[in-house]
Amino acid sequence: MNGRAPSDLVRQMWALVVEETFLWDLTKQVTDYYDSETAITHGPWLAVDCQQILTRWFDCGLIDCVATSWATRVRSDEIVHFEYNADWRTRATERGQHLILARDDTGALLRDPSTWHADGDGAGVTLCPSDQAAGLSFDAWFGKLAGLPDHLIYEQPLDGTTSGKAQKTLAEPEHVRIAQLWTPAVEHAATHGLSLLCPVNQDAHVAFDWDPTDGETATTESIEDVVCFVDRSKVGHGQPFPFGRHRLWCPGCGAEQHLVVMRRPA
Ligand SMILES: [Zn+2]
Repeated sequence: MNGRAPSDLVRQMWALVVEETFLWDLTKQVTDYYDSETAITHGPWLAVDCQQILTRWFDCGLIDCVATSWATRVRSDEIVHFEYNADWRTRATERGQHLILARDDTGALLRDPSTWHADGDGAGVTLCPSDQAAGLSFDAWFGKLAGLPDHLIYEQPLDGTTSGKAQKTLAEPEHVRIAQLWTPAVEHAATHGLSLLCPVNQDAHVAFDWDPTDGETATTESIEDVVCFVDRSKVGHGQPFPFGRHRLWCPGCGAEQHLVVMRRPA
């Protein structure tokens, strides 16, 4: 929009949607480590700022809220399974292993950050892109934010006098941003079939070089690989990709990424 760069907040909210992040994690500070010398910190964010962006995308039909059809609460080191007792449960639609919240319920949760906690109505609820958002570029998501306050959606010039914000001067490296595009694309392909449009330029269907492998976990990987876990119940029952480390590449623009498929650790 206007050639101005999107703010870190916008990039991060978009990443949290495509990564299907829990509501309770939305405002938290996240640090990405790229190598031993480069770490970039995003957030923490004000809930009211997150809310303005997310509700705009919701109003445009780009966001759904979903929950796994069984609930999990993580408390210190223990994992507790429990039944959802929130109102939205009775109106949610089951799809596979997920519950898709009714649109009104999603809107209500997104408009009320007091529900973004590990207890209460928002417990176990994650964001996800709606069917309508499939294939939409980041620029298109950004464009939907037109009219929101400048300080929220555009990168702000640094005035040099602010202390304690030095890490903000680090821009997200391009290769990192591109790497983030592959994960939701691969997950989409795993769920809906193998046809995977190049997530970088949408210019061709991605080709796979399948590497043979001996075991379900034995594989080498690099920090930039996309990792796809196969659940125990699915092993041998139509799992989408063979185990191992495979190269994905686009015959159109040459973009490539490695995909590691392994059994989900117990
Ligand atoms: Zn491509």
